[in-house]
Formats: sequence, C-alpha cells, structure tokens
Amino acid sequence: MKPETFGIISSICAALFIATITQVIAADDTRPIAGFSEQASIKQHQLETRLDEKIKAEELDEWLKHMSAKPHHAGSAASKETAEYIAQLMSSWGYQVKIEEFEILLPTPRVRELEMVYPENYHAALREDSLPEDPSTSVRDNLLEPYNAFSAEGEVEAELVFINYGRPEDHEYLERHGIDLTGKIAIAKYGKTWRGIKPKLAAEKGAIATIIYSDPADDGYGKGDVYPKGAFKHESGVQRGSVMDMPTYPGDVLTPGIGASKNAKRLKIKDAATITKIPVLPISHRDALPLLSAMDGAVVPPEWRGALPITYHLGPGPAKVRLKLAFNWDMVTIYNVIARLKGAKFPNEWVIRGNHHDGWNHGASDPLSGQIAMLAEAKAVAELAAAGSPPARTIIYASWDAEEPGLIGSTEWAELHAKELKKKAVAYINTDGSSRGFLSVGGSHTLENFFNEISADVTDPQTGVSLKQRQRANLKLNGTDETIKKEARERKNIRIAPLGSGSDYTPFLQHLGIASANLAFSGHGDGGSYHTLYDTYEHFTTWRDPGLLYCVTLAKVAGRATLRLANAEILPFEYTALHDNVNMYIGELEKLAETMRTETENRNRDIADGTYALVLDPQKTLGPPMVQNAVPYFSFAPLKNAALHLEQAALTFASRSSIETRTAKQNRKFNRLLYTSERLLTLDAGLAGRNWFKHHIYAPGFYTGYGVKTLPGVRENIEQRNYDTVPDEIEKAAGILHKMAQRIEELNEI
Ligand SMILES: [Zn+2]
Repeated sequence: MKPETFGIISSICAALFIATITQVIAADDTRPIAGFSEQASIKQHQLETRLDEKIKAEELDEWLKHMSAKPHHAGSAASKETAEYIAQLMSSWGYQVKIEEFEILLPTPRVRELEMVYPENYHAALREDSLPEDPSTSVRDNLLEPYNAFSAEGEVEAELVFINYGRPEDHEYLERHGIDLTGKIAIAKYGKTWRGIKPKLAAEKGAIATIIYSDPADDGYGKGDVYPKGAFKHESGVQRGSVMDMPTYPGDVLTPGIGASKNAKRLKIKDAATITKIPVLPISHRDALPLLSAMDGAVVPPEWRGALPITYHLGPGPAKVRLKLAFNWDMVTIYNVIARLKGAKFPNEWVIRGNHHDGWNHGASDPLSGQIAMLAEAKAVAELAAAGSPPARTIIYASWDAEEPGLIGSTEWAELHAKELKKKAVAYINTDGSSRGFLSVGGSHTLENFFNEISADVTDPQTGVSLKQRQRANLKLNGTDETIKKEARERKNIRIAPLGSGSDYTPFLQHLGIASANLAFSGHGDGGSYHTLYDTYEHFTTWRDPGLLYCVTLAKVAGRATLRLANAEILPFEYTALHDNVNMYIGELEKLAETMRTETENRNRDIADGTYALVLDPQKTLGPPMVQNAVPYFSFAPLKNAALHLEQAALTFASRSSIETRTAKQNRKFNRLLYTSERLLTLDAGLAGRNWFKHHIYAPGFYTGYGVKTLPGVRENIEQRNYDTVPDEIEKAAGILHKMAQRIEELNEI
C-alpha cells in the first residue's frame, strides 16, 4: 500500500478532556443519519454504541501479536496459516467462511548481486540487520530478502546516472545536461512517485537497469532518530515492493481481466505486459553511499540533494556497477478469506469490507493494523447479529492475499465474480496500513456526506473532540494551499480525496465501477518501516499506534460505514458533492491548459531569442530546455454543460427528503438505481491504451502510479501533449456526466 507522509508529534495534553466529551457525543442518539428515518436513526445510533463497546484493544493486540510473529508473504506457508487463522476466527463468530484460492505467477529472488567494479570494488550487502532491541527482526525464517517483485531478470554492467526521483521532470532536467540514459544504469531515490514508475520511465529513456534507494533525507536520519532509538529508517533498511506496471493493469500478470482460477487461459510470461522491461533492485542508503560517492559529472541542483554526507553528482559514471538478478518464476496458490453474514432483508445487496493479510515481512503496520481493525468490527457485527440485530443487507468481510505484489488477491476475486458484483455490490470499504493522527478518507464523491456524518459521530481518542473537528483543524493550519485552508473554515463537509491506486479498492472502483472508500489514520505515526524488516509489532506499538488507540478508532469508523450501508432504508449516496468536485476538476483542467500554454509560449520565446543562452553558465553543462509544441485552445464547453446538467439533477435530488413515502417496492428500485449509479462513470472500452481501467473520473496516473488523475482521459492527454485526442476525451467524459445526470433525474421521478 501507499506510504503516508509523516507529520509532527502531537501534544497529548488535550487527552485530559476525553472522558467528558466522549459522553456528550455518545449520549445524543437523536442526530439524524442520512438514509434512516427518525426512528431508525435512534436505533442505529444505539446499535453503534453497542458496536463501540464490543471493540477491545486487548483483542486487537492479541491478533496483531499472533499474525506479525513471523514473515508471511503471499505464496509462503505462513501466508496460508494467516488465512486459516482469520478463517477460523470468522467461523467461530458465526460467519459463513470460504477460502477462495487462485493460482498466480509470483517471482521471488534467486540471485541478487550488486557490485561496483570501477573506480573501486564494493559488494553491496543487500541485507537488513537484525537488532537486539527488536526480537522480531531476528525471526528471519522465510524472510523475503529485499527485491522488487516483477522486475525483469538479467545481468548488466554499466555506468551510473543519478535520476533523482525518476519523474518525467527529472528526466527533462537530465536531458538539459545532455545526459543520455541509453545503455546506463539509473540510480533513483525512493519517494515522490510510485516506485514502479521509476524503472518504467528509465527504460523508456534507454536505461538498462534501475537501482532504487531510500535517501535518509526522506525517511531516515534526515527526518529524525532512526530505529530502534526512533521510528525512522535504519541505515540497512530497504523498501521492498512491486514494480509491476499496475497503471496498465493490476492483478496476476498472466490473466488480465479474468480470474486466475486453476484452468484459466494464461498468457506466456514473455507476453505479460506488466513485467518491467529492465532489472530493478531496491537497496539501503548504506549500500548506496559508496556508489554515489564514486560518481562525478555535474553537481545536482539543490532540490535533488539528499542527506548523505557527500556532494551528489549526476554522472554518468565514472562509477560503474554490475547488477545480476534472477528469480524463481513460480506459480503459487493464494488464499482469500471470504466471510459472509447474510442480510436479513436484502440478501442480494452486498456491502463489501476488505483488507489484505499478506505482508512483505512481519507486516505489523502494513497490512495488519487495518486487518485487526476489520477483525474487531467483524466480531462485533456478528455478536450484534446473534443478539437480534442482523444487518438488513449481506455483509462480506474479505481478507485478501497477495496485495503486496500487485493487488492480486482482490483483483482476481473481483474479475472472477465481476458479473455478480456489478449486480449486487452496494459499496466496497477498504483499509490497509494505518497509524495515528487524522482520519483520511478517499473515495467516491457520492459518499462525501456519508463519511462526514460518520467522522462527526466518532470521537478522537487523544483529544476527545470528533474526528471531523480534528480533521478540520488540521486542514485549517496545514492545508496544502489557501483554498483548502479557506474551505476548512467555510465548507460544511470535508472533501474526500479521489482515489488513484495503491490498495485493494482498485479493482472494485476502477474496474467494476463500485462506489468505494479507503480509510486510514495518518499524520502522527512516525516511521521509515514501510516494507522493511522493521515493520514489526515492536515498531508499530512503540511508534505508530501505542495502545492501538487508533486501530480501535478505525474499527469504529469502518464498522459504522459497513453497518450504515447495510441497514440504511435509503442508501446514503448523494450527488451535489460529486458535482462540486467534478466541477472543480473541470476548472483545474482549464487552468492546466492555460498555464501550460503560457509557459510553453514564454519558454519557446526565451529559447529562440537567446535569453537562456545569456543566463546559463557557458562553463557548465546545463543547456536550455527543448522547444515544445504550442498548446492549442480546447473547448471545455461540452464538459461544462454536462456538469450543469449534473448540478441541476443533483440539486433536485438533494432538495427531496431522503426518506419519503415510497412503497417498499419503489424503495428497492430506488436503492438499486442509487448503488449502480457509480457504474455509469465507467465505459466498457476503458481508458485509451489501458482498457482494464474503466472509470473515467478517477484513475491512477500512467506516469505517477498511485497518484490519482481525475478526469484522466482529458487530463493525461493534455499533460502528455497528445493534443489531438483531447476533444474526443472531453466528449467522452461529458457523455458520462450526462448519463449520470439522467440517472439522477430517473431517481427524482420515483
Ligand atoms: Zn498494504
């Protein structure tokens, strides 16, 4: 999953007020809940109070300790044991449990050699240290040594070029220095962009391999004390991770679009488009230091510098390295645990709640912090059902395998059951690694109001105010720009972030068009443990969530989300926030085109009239940028008209009380039209060049990976200067918004 950004340590003085304020929030059962009648709201609040009482930190702690005791990566015996442990718990609580297996291709490391051959010899250790202070780090049986899954294999020897974070703008800068990556080995820093983008882009530029290291400036001693004294990355720590080309399609690389069951039709490995084109290896900064110290060439610009005690150079060379990688290209069985609680009224409407169980290593934070929250919810929900309050809709708890190598367990399950899911899935709620601080909600904008009601109803365990008050305070002070700060003061609801990729919601949202959300706490959980040997019980409970206060709170948030979706008389989807956000995205696109046009004009003029030549130091290698094609004017009118159509329909919808006097039959139809409305934001043909991705409002960026691109068809074609295709993409997106508006009009007629 996606690493969080790290914030400051919070003050805990406010914790003194917890007791009193908690009582105030809990005592008020009369607050209306969208989708529930007055009577039903009171009942639902009472149910949620009982839910909260059943979630116990001691139990979460026991599950965490048990499941993080040893490495349990997908394909290992320990991963199967974890699945069986979860299945056994779920069954004991009364769920109908099935372990669904898939057969997937999963490479594990066989040969990993990195050696500097010039100007000195250095053998990279490629190994993380066990630490006496953290006994878990000595539990190394079946430990996956640091590697990047779905890297190509091979042996290469070449000079190094430093490519900073390996983003498109970093390559542009290298080109201005006349540095050609052809035949070279790129060395990149982790961070700023999803890791898989680094080798993808480097290969496009001609590199024959990529090395990725974690610079201490980003999550090591440049940030704070390192583990075990502090939370940040140990000098030997290496971030593992998949480099599969997930922005093309996630899941098993041999079965795009179909479930990887035993007899599924499979591609040949050589035809799998999502395996990298060149070898890639992650290393520690301890191993990177000798390589970077031996580099020369132009000194990097200030913003490229890391925190190692050297002057960073771009290269190429003279440092020359030999890299040899080989993998076991095994077919392995993976185990998804699917636990069902049948809905008492609407068994064919499914609320799906998921979190993965495989970890790169011990995986205490990623994924177990979310997994234990989910288990706590599941246990509480089952107990409530047994005590006479079963959910109206079916609840499915899904514990996914093989998320880490490429969202594989969830993707294969979603692909195999696509037809049924499109018909029955009401929503998908995801969690993954979580720490402490502020609630972050990403998801479908139709759920904005829904999650604002929930965050107003759950108490922050350290300050005693509601989660929403704390989120708002954080945005007021730390919002990334003035608009966000202003909105935090004035806007009724806090926006939920659009989702790109990075966890198991992707197949549900992006492929099937099921309204989805991803929940986590972040901001105050320090750390550099992500995907390293140091993501242990000891690290997590010391630095990321001591006392598991926020794991408990996450269970309360996701538990409410699941129960409200399961019990609502009218499903709580709402469209004014969708309009408001889409309208904002259209504004961003207009601004993007405008800014690019002006910048391109100015830059081209400055190149042509010699301005660059007068400023740049003739004794240095940095040259002027390349001339770019002028940006034409685009007509955004079709999109703006569609947004207007959406707005009118959404306002009418919002003006009607959510619980009206419809017949039961009408309500059923109304709900079905509501929960299938997200499907209308998808097109079967998918996005151009990557048709697995069907959603046309949210997609992971083709050159950013996890980072979302909203209205991706339009946005990416402008950004990538494919101007000719932009008008078509504008029409397509407009068509989708009109369809959505028509659906809302249909709802308004019922
Ligand atoms: Zn994860």
